[in-house]
Amino acid sequence: MKKNNYAFKGLIFDLDGVLWIGNAPMKGAISFLDRLEKNDIPFCVLTNDCSISKSERLKALANAELILLPNQLITAPEITMNWLRDKGVQSIMYLGESEVLTDVKNEIVISQRNSIDAVVIGDLFEHYERNLLNNAAKSIIGGAIFVALQKNARWSDGVDWYIDNGFWVSGLEFVTGKQAFVIGKPHRYAYQSAIEKLGQTIDNSSQIVFVSDDIMSDLKGAKNLGLITVYFGPTITLPYWVDYSIQDFNSLLTLLCKNDE
Ligand SMILES: [Mg+2]
Repeated sequence: MKKNNYAFKGLIFDLDGVLWIGNAPMKGAISFLDRLEKNDIPFCVLTNDCSISKSERLKALANAELILLPNQLITAPEITMNWLRDKGVQSIMYLGESEVLTDVKNEIVISQRNSIDAVVIGDLFEHYERNLLNNAAKSIIGGAIFVALQKNARWSDGVDWYIDNGFWVSGLEFVTGKQAFVIGKPHRYAYQSAIEKLGQTIDNSSQIVFVSDDIMSDLKGAKNLGLITVYFGPTITLPYWVDYSIQDFNSLLTLLCKNDE
């Protein structure tokens, strides 16, 4: 991995289960990111987590000495709000903790009234109310754009798995007969946003490495856009289309240096 002389143009990391495990940095993650910084290798983190605001997440990572700049962390709430702004949406009903949107909401108004442009599904587990879901379903049927920050069935902190937001999104799809626009991974908009943060374009996707422990959402979406896919996790049988498998940051370093020759 030599400065300004590498075969790949940047790296995109998943957060949970890769850089962050069980509420602490993954072993070797901090020194690996330091090494990327020192070698001027662009990287960013793309996460589907929508339980915490971007600034709170940056703070929690920094408290554990995993320091990222704001433009090195791309969150599902952030890209979803950008997507909505680009679509001309001015008001949304948000199903989840609206604090999560405080630092990324642009000029979009968040309201519980029925006359909104879009219904946006975030992390609803701590905020579930039957009436809220009822109003959301009626607004969607009435013509509001139906948007989900993500639609994952489960998420893993690298230690255990947990039920994820797809639970709510699938339920509302069933009730309304409409399909949500899912903006987080594996939507191409999510990867494009990350690729732009690396100062690259989608034309260079074959020289960008994407590292995740999630195969069917994260890596599949990355593969569809032509990125180099690297599975991070215990040795398991992988689908044929996954490019590489690594178990830790030492093996990622070895892989990157090998591809550098
Ligand atoms: Mg993960």
